[in-house]
Amino acid sequence: MASRAVVIGGGLIGLSIARALTERGLSEVLVLERQVLAGGGTGKSSGIVRSHYGVPSIAAMAWRSLPVFEELGEEVGFRQVGYTVIVGEENVEPLKANTAMHQSLGIDVDLIDNDQLEALWPMMEIGDVASASYEPRGGFADATQLALHYGQVARAKGARIRQSTPVARILTKGEKVTGVELASGEVVEADLVIVAAGWWSAKLLADLGIDFPIEAYRSELIIVDAGVPLANVPVVSDLVSLQYCRLEGAGQFLVGNSDHADFEKKYADADTYSNVVSEASIMRYAEKLMHRFPGFPDPSVTHNYAGVYDVLPDWNPVIAPAGQVEGLLVCAGFAGHGFKIAPAVGDLVADLVFEGESTDPDIPASDFRLERFAEGKFLSSLHPYVGAGEMR
Ligand SMILES: Cc1cc2nc3c(=O)[nH]c(=O)nc-3n(C[C@H](O)[C@H](O)[C@H](O)COP(=O)(O)OP(=O)(O)OC[C@H]3O[C@@H](n4cnc5c(N)ncnc54)[C@H](O)[C@@H]3O)c2cc1C
Repeated sequence: MASRAVVIGGGLIGLSIARALTERGLSEVLVLERQVLAGGGTGKSSGIVRSHYGVPSIAAMAWRSLPVFEELGEEVGFRQVGYTVIVGEENVEPLKANTAMHQSLGIDVDLIDNDQLEALWPMMEIGDVASASYEPRGGFADATQLALHYGQVARAKGARIRQSTPVARILTKGEKVTGVELASGEVVEADLVIVAAGWWSAKLLADLGIDFPIEAYRSELIIVDAGVPLANVPVVSDLVSLQYCRLEGAGQFLVGNSDHADFEKKYADADTYSNVVSEASIMRYAEKLMHRFPGFPDPSVTHNYAGVYDVLPDWNPVIAPAGQVEGLLVCAGFAGHGFKIAPAVGDLVADLVFEGESTDPDIPASDFRLERFAEGKFLSSLHPYVGAGEMR
């Protein structure tokens, strides 16, 4: 049993892991963050909370995590406005099949008709919407607030967190991990090292000869002022226009692109990617938004930014031992879904550390093995949506 753990990466995932390990009684937990807590993908998260996934174990993780948002509420900026997926004709069957799969997992979700959709979202254009599903307990929250909350919980239970402390390399002896060496040259001994460094995990693992096939995929967002106050409309995943939108304050909307058709073209470097959305892209997103919500009286784009998803070949994470090195775990590759499942991810890592396996039958640890890429056994949606890529 591990007694001294180092978690590399002070994003939401690393902090959720530190929280889960300390909650289970491991007091010697040290989180090492090269810059500031939540300064990576976590700080850019749209914070959408939903259980709608085509991979059952990911849907189950989101569902297990939901009570955390409900309990923490305001503390993590949770707004339980509901979550709806809207699809065109070509995706009616996958939506039906996914919704049935979600219901079999106990998820509170149902298909709704266009009258119900209109009642939920009075300004929505529904002429091209063939079907929709609705999760009344979905919504959105703030990833930074959840990360910092988990940092506080972990600290209160004995964990230490060091910021501005880059890890240079992971140290091993024979087939065992022995700790990490910091960029400063300092050595920190540990018998458990968990790499939760998002896109940057690949470099640390490559030094040990472990291939971690991750890419940074740039994703753009705009903030739109609708020109009218709108309270409590649900988050919309629009699989017709391939974008998502949620409230961002009274009358403001955060709009994210979910058209991943040309995703290889958007591979970036997570340290140097452009944070600015081009005029042409802004126009394209704004046009799609105006099509969906033609009734916004005086819309304007107030600002824009971009983030990067850490994407493995099947757009799903690895949460597993890495290579043949005893005491080494990797937990990265969460693409655009690491926020809503972060509580369950921490719990799964604690299961792996303390039990050697998942204690939740709906979340088999084998789904998240690293070897699946070399074996070509991708973790893919059971009922993929036409045109919507791997995000669902
Ligand atoms: C634009 C965008 C929108 C998103 N929207 C949603 C959403 O609506 N819902 C959802 O569920 N998810 C969403 N996500 C995904 C979610 O935010 C991420 O999956 C999650 O926050 C990733 O957390 P992480 O801790 O794995 O990675 P990160 O937050 O990137 O943390 C990794 C940390 O490791 C540190 N690090 C790297 N190398 C080292 C080193 N050598 N030594 C020490 N530290 C190191 C980095 O500095 C960084 O802080 C979104 C992501 C983006 C980018």
